[in-house]
Amino acid sequence: MRLRRCLIVPAVAAVLAFPAAHAADITQTRDGVTLTYQDPSGSTNAEVRDRIIATFFSAYPRERADFHPAAPSSVHIVMDPSYDGVAYVGEKEKAATITINPRWLEKHPNDTDLVTHEAMHIVQGYPGYASEQAPSWLVEGIADYARDVYGVDNAAGGWALPAQVKAEHKVDTGYRVTGAFLKWSEAEHPGLVEALDGALRKGSYTPALWKQRTGNDLAALWEAYVAQRAGGKQA
Ligand SMILES: [Zn+2]
Repeated sequence: MRLRRCLIVPAVAAVLAFPAAHAADITQTRDGVTLTYQDPSGSTNAEVRDRIIATFFSAYPRERADFHPAAPSSVHIVMDPSYDGVAYVGEKEKAATITINPRWLEKHPNDTDLVTHEAMHIVQGYPGYASEQAPSWLVEGIADYARDVYGVDNAAGGWALPAQVKAEHKVDTGYRVTGAFLKWSEAEHPGLVEALDGALRKGSYTPALWKQRTGNDLAALWEAYVAQRAGGKQA
């Protein structure tokens, strides 16, 4: 579920590669957002497809409204069996695109809220990734924080933020571990995640922002989180 900014196989080439099964694209517009769903190889059944589309429309317009109303109003979802990861976001033919490995969904048909995570990456639209101004642990932590907040049915997918802090968990573990920390931090300091997201988008994020917003530097805030979880107070 990593964010990539590379161009891969253009959609038109994918269609040519699977001429026998080129199901028509599905285009729907809701809440000011247009989604084009493409499954050129006919990989995914209608039931999963409909849940993917419904999950997108449940999550993305709200994520966009809450964090970045200027985020793209047109999004593509492409089912691509040649991709061997889970899902990623990138631009294809100038359209913000979520590419999904249909074989993952075949094995995990209830993990449709992976779309909620990926859609948040489109909302993020940060100018970098895995850089000082946009550390990957924080970018992925925010995406999983959003999956928790905006997800349709994370429980069905067996997905949850961890309720306990394990010894191997660090603030920069990323994904769910950082997402759970962000959820706790946001409850303690409302507006924190929005401030982090805004600074990341402007390219102005520095670790000093934690201290400015919470009174604690990042390490101290993590320690306070760990201490509260260890005390049995679980959000
Ligand atoms: Zn991600």
